[in-house]
Amino acid sequence: MSVYEVDVLVVGSGPAGATTARYAAEGGLRVLLVDKKSELGTPVECSGALSEHALEDGGVPVDEEYILAPAYGFITYGVGGEQIRHDYRTYGREKPLGYVVDRKRFDRYLSSLASHAGAEVWLRSRMRGYIIEGGYIYARVQRLGSEQTVRARVVVGADGLMSHVALWAGLSPAIRLQDMASCLQYIVNNVETEGLLEIIVGQAHAPGGYAWVFPKGGGYAEVGLGVIRTMTEQDARCHLERFMRQSFMRDRFAHANILEVQGGGVPLAAPLKRMIADHVLLVGDAGRHVNPLTGGGLHTSLRGGRIAGEYLAALGPDLIGNVGQLQGYQERWFERMGNDLTALYQQRVAIFKERDIERQDALLFETLGQYFNPHSKYRKV
Ligand SMILES: Cc1cc2nc3c(=O)[nH]c(=O)nc-3n(C[C@H](O)[C@H](O)[C@H](O)COP(=O)(O)OP(=O)(O)OC[C@H]3O[C@@H](n4cnc5c(N)ncnc54)[C@H](O)[C@@H]3O)c2cc1C
Repeated sequence: MSVYEVDVLVVGSGPAGATTARYAAEGGLRVLLVDKKSELGTPVECSGALSEHALEDGGVPVDEEYILAPAYGFITYGVGGEQIRHDYRTYGREKPLGYVVDRKRFDRYLSSLASHAGAEVWLRSRMRGYIIEGGYIYARVQRLGSEQTVRARVVVGADGLMSHVALWAGLSPAIRLQDMASCLQYIVNNVETEGLLEIIVGQAHAPGGYAWVFPKGGGYAEVGLGVIRTMTEQDARCHLERFMRQSFMRDRFAHANILEVQGGGVPLAAPLKRMIADHVLLVGDAGRHVNPLTGGGLHTSLRGGRIAGEYLAALGPDLIGNVGQLQGYQERWFERMGNDLTALYQQRVAIFKERDIERQDALLFETLGQYFNPHSKYRKV
């Protein structure tokens, strides 16, 4: 059987993998990007909200090709409807602060940026396992029904939350149930939005998480929530139905029709302390590179992908990929992003340690209100 030879094999063409592949290829490495899907970004399991700053960090041009709706700021609601409003238009910003993107088109767009940079992209190609021999990693990839061996110096595990690459490399300690949000969202019509991302907190609505209403463009909206299952006996669906029928927002949903149902898991965990092994590194959800306060993983994936791609490119084609050589990626990642994510995780844990529910609700309300404030250290623009 022929062996396909590259410097870097990236597994998963989501935001993290496509961005890693792009920057590694731009830096002159031979890169293969594989994804098991025939159609990237499907089924959609994401609300698609991200800031312009996130796009800038990932070096992604703002493009109508993938944008569904602009977002100009945030409203954080407390349990009874009290608000902290940060509409950046009232702070003199005319441009959108961010966007709601179509994940299907966004993932395809990122993948095409990678291929323009010189990465080869294989769809319907699932990585099945690997062995390490003689300074190389040999990956088994099931491509369009037949098995192909890929020889690389490094495999980048960008294969999402249930990462097999992380598992094979022994980098996947079990996630604690209290750090795992179970999310559900409906795409609905007949729900007015004002171009703002609305976040609703409160144990009564979404235990351990929050509910959201985002503009979707074309007269549609996303209404969803995430819950921590150790904090409730009911699933996300029960909570979402109750939120739409009984909360202070119920009148807004009175004429909503559900047009799509989407869901998925979000790790509200600290990033993995160790995201490298011999010839392997992790990026994006695979490394739990998610903001543990908001659950957002697009910015962290784009930024982490760029850090990984640029790091590998700087090592150059002579890269060996042993764990010592990859150590610098992990250090750089923590320095630029991981330490902040760890601090946010600690903030989250402190909030949910509070046993008094009223106090807990108030803490989360204040913390998120503060997080979205234009003066917060966590930049949105
Ligand atoms: C309901 C919900 C709403 C969300 N909303 C937002 C939001 O509004 N804003 C935000 O910032 N974040 C949001 N997130 C989080 C965000 O979607 C993720 O953090 C982000 O998609 C992570 O990107 P990734 O590239 O790491 O992984 P993924 O996007 O999961 O991509 C992984 C890719 O790897 C591929 N793959 C997996 N295994 C293999 C294999 N063996 N071989 C080949 N390919 C493989 C998959 O097909 C997939 O394409 C949301 C998540 C959920 C569940």
